[in-house]
Amino acid sequence: MLLNDKGIKTHNGSILQSNSVNRILKNQTYCGHYVSGDILSPHVPRLQIIDEHTFSLAQKILEQRSTKNDEKTQIARTTKGKTLLSGNIYCGHCGSIMHATSCLDKYNRKDGSRYEKRRQQYICSKKGRDSKSCEGQSVYAATKIDGAVSTVVRSYLDMIEVTPKSVALEKRYQLEIADLKIQEREVSQKKKTLNESLANLTAEISKSLTGDSTFTPDMLSMAINNTRTDLQAIEDKLAQLNYKINNSQGAMKKLDHFYDQYKQWAAEFDDETPEGRKMIICQLIREIKVSRGYDLEVVMDMNYEQFLSFVP
Ligand SMILES: [Zn+2]
Repeated sequence: MLLNDKGIKTHNGSILQSNSVNRILKNQTYCGHYVSGDILSPHVPRLQIIDEHTFSLAQKILEQRSTKNDEKTQIARTTKGKTLLSGNIYCGHCGSIMHATSCLDKYNRKDGSRYEKRRQQYICSKKGRDSKSCEGQSVYAATKIDGAVSTVVRSYLDMIEVTPKSVALEKRYQLEIADLKIQEREVSQKKKTLNESLANLTAEISKSLTGDSTFTPDMLSMAINNTRTDLQAIEDKLAQLNYKINNSQGAMKKLDHFYDQYKQWAAEFDDETPEGRKMIICQLIREIKVSRGYDLEVVMDMNYEQFLSFVP
């Protein structure tokens, strides 16, 4: 394990076991909550050492890598293996997942020397079990598919390089937030007016009791009740608006993260190790479908695809 190789130990100096790492990755205390069973405390900023986005990404990867989740696996279960794709490539004919395998070509040359070369290939898992069950091609050369996918990914990465952050993010969310804030100001003003009437009515009550008001206590009490009902409705509306404002700021922060991540990949992809490229592709691409004649359909993850609509 990488952590043990780096000499990282537990608090009592023993080596880390995979289940402790698993527990750490799933522990919401690090996001700033006290945890008791299934119950989380409200957010406590000083407890937080991991941001929400990183935490939820880790949960997504854990779930995708779990062996229970056999069908749609967007994250490579393992970054080992010599092919670029694993868990994210599907047969374009029957929709089954494609497995990466390898085969060994070997023969004796005329001069008596031995030729041996290992080739990587992708096969339709359904056709692999029963050749009649899928009408697609059963074997695809991995080098051909990996090369084509790399070219497509590179072109997506090039597109983000020409999309400025201000264009991609702000246009979309600033307008929405600005509109919500105008509504919030209007509703706050109404709340203030209602509170003033309530104070006036309450003051009128004591006058009414001493006979110095033209209103009877009953009339005033009815007016106070009505004002309170209106005030409650206004407060509910204000809470709703505040919730929306906080949420869209949260959504904006998330978007910001995806944008930065995307940009970073664009800068690093060419120099990445094969494992690194594999992980980038797993997150950037939702799935790849391959059909007869190496016809590829590449579906991008929507978290990243959303930025490309801004490309001029
Ligand atoms: Zn198939």
